[in-house]
Amino acid sequence: MIDDDYDIVIIGSGLGGLTAASLLSRKGFKILVVESRSRVGGRFSTFEYEGFKLPTGAILIPDGWVIKLLEEMGINIDNLRPITRVFYRIDGKRYEIPPDIGVPKALDIIDKLEREDAEKKKRPMKPVELSKIMRGYYKKMRGIKQEEIITVRDWLLQYTENEKVHDAFDTLCTGLMMAHSWELPISKFFLFQEMTKFYITPNGNISIAEELANVVRKNGAVWTNCSVRKIIINDGRATGVIVEKGGEQLEVKCKVVISNTGAKTTVDLAGKEHFNDEYLKNMRIKLRPSPCLLVLVASDKPLCLEGIDDGLEIIMGSRRIKTVIPISNICPELVPTGQHLFYTSAKSESTLHPMDVKYEMEQVKLDIKEFYPDFEKYGRILKMRACGIINEWPEGRTWLCYGMPLETPITNLFNVGDSCITPGLIGTPGSVESGYRVAEIAEKVL
Ligand SMILES: Cc1cc2nc3c(=O)[nH]c(=O)nc-3n(C[C@H](O)[C@H](O)[C@H](O)COP(=O)(O)OP(=O)(O)OC[C@H]3O[C@@H](n4cnc5c(N)ncnc54)[C@H](O)[C@@H]3O)c2cc1C
Repeated sequence: MIDDDYDIVIIGSGLGGLTAASLLSRKGFKILVVESRSRVGGRFSTFEYEGFKLPTGAILIPDGWVIKLLEEMGINIDNLRPITRVFYRIDGKRYEIPPDIGVPKALDIIDKLEREDAEKKKRPMKPVELSKIMRGYYKKMRGIKQEEIITVRDWLLQYTENEKVHDAFDTLCTGLMMAHSWELPISKFFLFQEMTKFYITPNGNISIAEELANVVRKNGAVWTNCSVRKIIINDGRATGVIVEKGGEQLEVKCKVVISNTGAKTTVDLAGKEHFNDEYLKNMRIKLRPSPCLLVLVASDKPLCLEGIDDGLEIIMGSRRIKTVIPISNICPELVPTGQHLFYTSAKSESTLHPMDVKYEMEQVKLDIKEFYPDFEKYGRILKMRACGIINEWPEGRTWLCYGMPLETPITNLFNVGDSCITPGLIGTPGSVESGYRVAEIAEKVL
């Protein structure tokens, strides 16, 4: 069977795919989005479990690109709940630090604690060297040399060996850049575009994904439970896709194909033989899918930041869990009455290798018991899911500043999503921004 009624086919309804689809749909192009799962949104969606509305991946929506898209699409953002307060746990004590001065202030606190502890125990200081670090920090922010390939950790070792300071930088790297401080080059670290305000949606991210899909449906279609099995290439040009729909193979012809499946899967779907060595080499070097454990903890009483409905907690000195988001404090609509929920994601010691899932889960459980002592009495792990290199559901398809180009060697075949992030962006803003770029390219092509 052949269907040739579409200008553009978009493979996958992740945030990048839906951004491109909704923007192009608004421009009057007829779009087909094909999604293999039963719901839209990919790693920016929601599933129901025991009465809880749980995230499939992302929970925090940083201010910026996502909000810009929603506003442009006329999607109501008034009900988004802002998170403006950040609490650090350092040496077991909680400190509130404004997000815009997070690193210097945290280092200042570590410096004071180190002095006090050294004095009390009459031991030598392990200097934090705050002023030296900050001088180096601001110097680097003014001029980064791309050729500097030393890691963040090595850069920091120039100034200090203090392990709490190293932990603070590693927390920043794993939380926002998809790699550890001993993996990420310092030149990439300083390109990061800071995020200081985040939102959570009280209806779950699927509500946003559905609204974007509705924009597409007005002038096109969104097929769920349908998988693209092949991208059709004729004379070096993408001319359509083969879709499995209701047990049948259907050929859909189109002028442009945009893949939201990740650059590697795009190659598999189109056939490696159509890609030149340069592209494949670039992909081997650049794509660094970052694994994590997505952890959701339910409880009969609030375990994290009780009474605070606009904050999150960053834990220093933990084994694995770093950023903890008390979802039910912020959006009680997402949990059943009388229940509470917090969310965290945990990175193993290497983001380059598949994780030992059983071992990593044990480390997470030890952290939860240590930092939330009431967990044993009132809490339970609702879900703990490995988002890994192997299962193709990573926290990010690559590290900060390692994005692939949107263009492929095949005419009219493009990628979108977080395998193609622009330098400095990551996560949902990175995916949305790639959607804007690909929509512009596709419009020109058509
Ligand atoms: C645990 C976790 C926590 C995260 N936390 C945050 C956070 O708090 N904030 C943030 O900004 N980002 C976060 N992220 C990252 C964020 O979720 C992603 O960067 C973003 O959602 C990726 O969007 P994407 O456009 O790349 O598409 P994806 O979400 O990767 O969607 C791709 C879609 O393509 C579909 N697909 C694949 N193959 C086919 C095929 N052959 N045919 C049809 N469909 C196909 C898939 O089913 C999927 O729906 C997190 C991610 C994870 C996993």
